[in-house]
Amino acid sequence: MLYLDDPGLDAATARGLRSYQKKVDSAGKYAMQVEAGKRLFSRYNQQRNSVFRVVRERLADMCAGARRCGYCEDSVGDEVEHIRPKDLYPETVFVWENYLLACGPCNGGKNNRFSVMRNGQLVDVTRRRDAPVRRPRSGAPAPINPRDEDPLGFLYLEIVDAFMFLPREGLPEVDELRAEYTIDVLKLNRDVLLAARREAYGTYRARLYEYRDRRDDGANEAALGHLRDAIRTSAHPTVWREMQRQREFIGELRTLFEEVPEALTW
Ligand SMILES: [Zn+2]
Repeated sequence: MLYLDDPGLDAATARGLRSYQKKVDSAGKYAMQVEAGKRLFSRYNQQRNSVFRVVRERLADMCAGARRCGYCEDSVGDEVEHIRPKDLYPETVFVWENYLLACGPCNGGKNNRFSVMRNGQLVDVTRRRDAPVRRPRSGAPAPINPRDEDPLGFLYLEIVDAFMFLPREGLPEVDELRAEYTIDVLKLNRDVLLAARREAYGTYRARLYEYRDRRDDGANEAALGHLRDAIRTSAHPTVWREMQRQREFIGELRTLFEEVPEALTW
């Protein structure tokens, strides 16, 4: 999971979202707003809706590879995901900064689970089925928000052995709790993801060797650019970032990046 750079929205689309949000905000008491948010989101989040067509395009621009999910980077991101769940926070149902494209397993698995931080502790604010629709307890969101924070400031992807995400060592306790919670709620260490990251590692490494060999053979700039782009647009970009970040600790990578120092900026 990487920080997602905001490509921005054009004025008309931003206005469209604001007008939808206004309808939610003016729907009445909190429970009515929750109901309106869910109903209106289902109504407007359609391909035939010009605002959401653009929203989806801009969100797709933020995805790695072939529109990969903003959380797991593996499957196609085809659902507009609310970073703060719409069931709990109707005030951000139509807020651009609250969206990313996620895959079904990430979006469905998360399933409105949400926690906030209060006095350094995780407080689960998930609304149980049949529970009264009340405003959740206040607090800063516990999950790491890749549109707002750099996930690699909190997480570390182990790329030698198991390819699992772990909280970075030496984090303040609050951040460690948030990192653990994020890994858990998004199930970032699903078996299929570990296997896919391992495969991605092999692919990145092979491409980097290929680039080195072609460059040393005097390939032209267009051919090299093609190889560079292949690395830049692959799935699982976190694996690539970690190869750069951890190169000093992995002999083969240290040598490879010494031979191809330009790859440190890709
Ligand atoms: Zn996913």
